[in-house]
Amino acid sequence: MPPILLVPIPPLQPETLATLARGIVERFQIAVLTDGSKSIDPAPAYDASRNQYDSSLLLSILLRLHSAQNGKILAVTEVDLYIPVLTFVFGEAQLDGKAAIVSVRRLDERFYGLPEKSSLLEDRLLKEAIHELGHTFGLLHCRRFECVMHASTAVEEIDLKSSSFCPECARLLDQKNRMGENG
Ligand SMILES: [Zn+2]
Ligand SMILES: [Zn+2]
Repeated sequence: MPPILLVPIPPLQPETLATLARGIVERFQIAVLTDGSKSIDPAPAYDASRNQYDSSLLLSILLRLHSAQNGKILAVTEVDLYIPVLTFVFGEAQLDGKAAIVSVRRLDERFYGLPEKSSLLEDRLLKEAIHELGHTFGLLHCRRFECVMHASTAVEEIDLKSSSFCPECARLLDQKNRMGENG
């Protein structure tokens, strides 16, 4: 399996990416590379009327910049993301595709006026990152509330699920990976 490439979109704390990389390696058993060399400017995706960034546009910029990349690409940012039909998104992914993006903005307790909790933030980010990567591996949403592929519309739902795939999703992921290896 080609490594997963993690790409920071500023602003982002460097430690955030390093901690996330370690968590992803444990879950996917795939090497993770981080690349901040080709810096992505989120400005073209900014919507002043919403004070948010167009998540799909950032995905397309990401893909253009890393078109030579073989494996999955995950962008991580602190900017607040949206897609037109929703108030916000925690992240977005290309189903059975190459790229995904996650935002830490609404995973941070400080967004809700609460004191900072860095370990909770790390947990939430890992879950959302694995969730979006799961989509790039072709996984759909799962009914089981404890499964990482369960859809979350609020942080409380993220906190309820684990960072692991349920047996059914794990089986599907395994199957897709083997199909990928056979061409
Ligand atoms: Zn999802
Ligand atoms: Zn599942």
